[in-house]
Amino acid sequence: MIIVMNSNAPQAAIDRVSSEIERMGLRPHLSSGKFRTVIGAMGEEGLLDQNHLASLDGVEKVVPIMKPYKLASREFHEDDSVVEVGGGKVPKVKVGGPHAACIAGPCAVENEEMLNKIARHVRDGGATILRGGVYKPRTSPYSFQGLGLQALKWMRATGDELGMPICVEVMDTRQVADMEPLVDCFQIGARNMQNFDLLREVGKTRKPVLLKRGLAATVKDWLLSAEYVLSQGNRGVILCERGIKTFEDSIRYSLDVTSIAVAQQLSHLPIIVDPSHAAGKRDYVASLALAGMAAGANGVIVEVHYCPSEAQCDGPQALLPEVFKELMGQLRQVAAVHKREFAEIGEVAASA
Ligand code: PEP
Ligand code: MN
Repeated sequence: MIIVMNSNAPQAAIDRVSSEIERMGLRPHLSSGKFRTVIGAMGEEGLLDQNHLASLDGVEKVVPIMKPYKLASREFHEDDSVVEVGGGKVPKVKVGGPHAACIAGPCAVENEEMLNKIARHVRDGGATILRGGVYKPRTSPYSFQGLGLQALKWMRATGDELGMPICVEVMDTRQVADMEPLVDCFQIGARNMQNFDLLREVGKTRKPVLLKRGLAATVKDWLLSAEYVLSQGNRGVILCERGIKTFEDSIRYSLDVTSIAVAQQLSHLPIIVDPSHAAGKRDYVASLALAGMAAGANGVIVEVHYCPSEAQCDGPQALLPEVFKELMGQLRQVAAVHKREFAEIGEVAASA
């Protein structure tokens, strides 16, 4: 249920509605738009006295939200949400609405030197957020699993040095507390999209969460997973389409560009595209990144390596730095079609 307030409703009226929702045993969630405030009543809807709420001062109307995901829905929040990643020693990078963001870096942090090199390359190429896995979800338990907290500390130091917020995958609830002070954005991998305890745990933090779509998840499943994070009070969810399993076996996954348009219609959350994991092969990465931006994505997350044959993880899909730089130029042009802009790194630094 959402309670739509009049455009001139005073704060006292908003507070009154919130406390009445609480009195009825539900939780109020405020969403302040350009013109009006909308209050979501989260919990058991049967407990709500709809007529009473509709009669309160400043209330324009009370509308049930039909979608199973409430806070993630456009009905709850009409305007595009803009999520800010970073702050403190690094600039804040905006993702959502007219703001497109490029997250780039290695698949996994393998040592400090390679991280430093790749980070400089992606920054030079136009990325504004640095990626790098320190806990890797690998199909085989014998494959490289990531270097853990030590690698996260290198990520933090490199991000601070270069003025780039960092986005790092968290795989387990037990990692959240140690990672929280060091990351600017938690990444939830495709395989963990329905790890509900993990979603709740990152939802309790106030760090943004990049939520990959599961390998076999519908858009509805995906938005319900976002709802887990949002329901804990964390508003910083960024969706990420990274390809799904289909019968097609000439590529690693099928990038579902349709889901970008669909998710944008159903939800106010920003959505970015991951062409690297969908393609699995560098030859296809640029086309898929451009297709995702053309479908309306708010940015990309791309894997880059200066010597992919040396990479311990996902080498075949890593772009060479010069190819990445060229791609960024093309992505800027496609973003302009949707009136979106990638921040220039200088600009980001200046607005910190
Ligand atoms: C990754 O980003 O390196 C990764 C493992 O992605 P996904 O969860 O989409 O497979
Ligand atoms: Mn990878």
